[in-house]
Amino acid sequence: MTVSYDDAVAFVRAFAGVVAERKDELTALDSAIGDADHGINMNRGMQAALEVVDAAQGDGDIGAMFKAVGMKLVSTVGGAGGPLYGTLFLQLGVKSAGKAELAPADWLEMLSAAVDGVIARGKAELEDKTMIDALVPALEALKAKAAEGADMGDALRASADAAEQGRDATTPLEARRGRASYLGPRSVGHQDPGATSSALLLRAAASRWG
Ligand code: ADP
Ligand code: MG
Repeated sequence: MTVSYDDAVAFVRAFAGVVAERKDELTALDSAIGDADHGINMNRGMQAALEVVDAAQGDGDIGAMFKAVGMKLVSTVGGAGGPLYGTLFLQLGVKSAGKAELAPADWLEMLSAAVDGVIARGKAELEDKTMIDALVPALEALKAKAAEGADMGDALRASADAAEQGRDATTPLEARRGRASYLGPRSVGHQDPGATSSALLLRAAASRWG
């Protein structure tokens, strides 16, 4: 199984679509432990990103497409989410530069660079109650499946499942990064909005490429 340029675009569209659908839920999660803008931020950024993707259609360079999405997110989304998701997509693009299709090993390398980029930028560790709590388990699951020689569909589904488990596991945690950390112990008992949107990202990949 390989991912074509059109498949890569379909993944970006699927993520933008689900962010639009779940915008109010993401914002409600952020209203409990942040400033009630995560859904609004992500939706604005992904809608702007879609315009760039549409403009570049037919270009065929998957890396250029992901980089354009990342740059658009950085320039249109404020707060923590913009630079962090911007970095994520930029790194997906760095590792797929010049490619017209992706093999399973490419996606592993891309996601790995993306997660490293988000960690380098935000300095969050596991269990700080951030998007990292969904992304790192997703990457680990993908690596484990790759080592077993699983097919791409299985690997992507396991990766999305792990992201969702990581998202759920943020609820009892006390936030140590981002705005939610200002609440200290009062952040306990709420699911992290960024971990929720990151789980949607991994599920979008599984649904389009699995
Ligand atoms: P802001 O917090 O600036 O309003 P958003 O609401 O868009 O930005 O995004 C909030 C999410 O960003 C949090 O739920 C968390 O998952 C993530 N986040 C915040 N700070 C960090 C960080 N330092 N590293 C990783 N993720 C972070
Ligand atoms: Mg916010």
